[in-house]
Amino acid sequence: EIILAIETSCDETAVAVVQGGRKLLSNVVATQMDIHEKYGGVVPEIASRHHIEQMTVVMEQALDEASLTVDDLDAVAVTEGPGLVGALLIGVNAAKAIAFANDLPLIGVHHIAGHIYANRLMQEFEFPLLSLVVSGGHTELIYMKQHGDYEVIGETRDDAAGEAYDKVAKALNLPYPGGPVLDKLAQEGEDLYQFPRAWLEDGSYDFSFSGLKTAVINKLNQMKQKGENYRVEDIAASFQASVIEVLTEKTFKATNDLGVKQLIVAGGVSANKGLREALHQKFDNRDIDLMIPPLYLCTDNAAMIGATASIHYHQGEFKDLSLNANPGLMLG
Ligand code: ATP
Ligand code: FE
Ligand code: MG
Repeated sequence: EIILAIETSCDETAVAVVQGGRKLLSNVVATQMDIHEKYGGVVPEIASRHHIEQMTVVMEQALDEASLTVDDLDAVAVTEGPGLVGALLIGVNAAKAIAFANDLPLIGVHHIAGHIYANRLMQEFEFPLLSLVVSGGHTELIYMKQHGDYEVIGETRDDAAGEAYDKVAKALNLPYPGGPVLDKLAQEGEDLYQFPRAWLEDGSYDFSFSGLKTAVINKLNQMKQKGENYRVEDIAASFQASVIEVLTEKTFKATNDLGVKQLIVAGGVSANKGLREALHQKFDNRDIDLMIPPLYLCTDNAAMIGATASIHYHQGEFKDLSLNANPGLMLG
């Protein structure tokens, strides 16, 4: 089946065409990053306006690049949540319009399921598997016994990993989004400061990053007050070392406890060079398949929505035209 997929949950207007859940026919992403950078974060009203302006253009380009017309489509899919409600609504309404006008089935997709299924464009899933989701709004360990079946075994109790990156970057007066910038700086720094690692209670798969963020900010204030010199590279490296150690160790323990065949990494923070290296070091010589998406599938895109929609398509899970944006949609 050929599915046209739409993603507008945040600041990327994205449309893709995916065949059989695994083959990417086109993948167009119009990012608004440079617009929101001025404000140090995503401004919801501005995001919605740009989605409206970009939607038709991006959609036409996606069909063009796939060398298809709407007549070739078998279904239309869209991110229904979670995300910014105004941003989601633009995608949902665009999807409903195409589905209605062309009498196509409509599929609603969970954004985080999408991040996970981005990996299926690269390699087939083998169950049971564990997914480490690390994005701007989520940090979760998700256990899957079969397609479309998600059990959240651990999650952040405060900030998401990407959110911590963005907030620490802001405290260092670095541009938004902070993840890529801090990642780069960290490569040139050293873990001099040994910031705390939030292990939480024994055996917990949950995460917490707000204490780390506060520790970094306190250290910065302290050094400024005392007039001490520091290298931003070392702050970045020390912050990143804490994030990576906790993510890697908790994930490692969970894969052992659950005896999974695959570990799937998903979400914007999976673009992190240090995290990718640490995971490879930990898992490459183990009897477990490590899957990390290529960079273009780590951050928001519609290819991942099309990949997930294929599962819904085969399970006969369709929506009618009453489909609405659901900013707080739960997984599973
Ligand atoms: P969610 O998917 O939870 O709804 P989102 O869609 O905003 O949130 P993504 O687009 O998946 O999140 O990822 C964006 C986040 O990834 C930002 O917080 C950004 O700083 C972070 N990020 C991107 N690249 C890197 C990197 N190299 N290192 C660390 N973080 C990164
Ligand atoms: Fe995302
Ligand atoms: Mg984004």
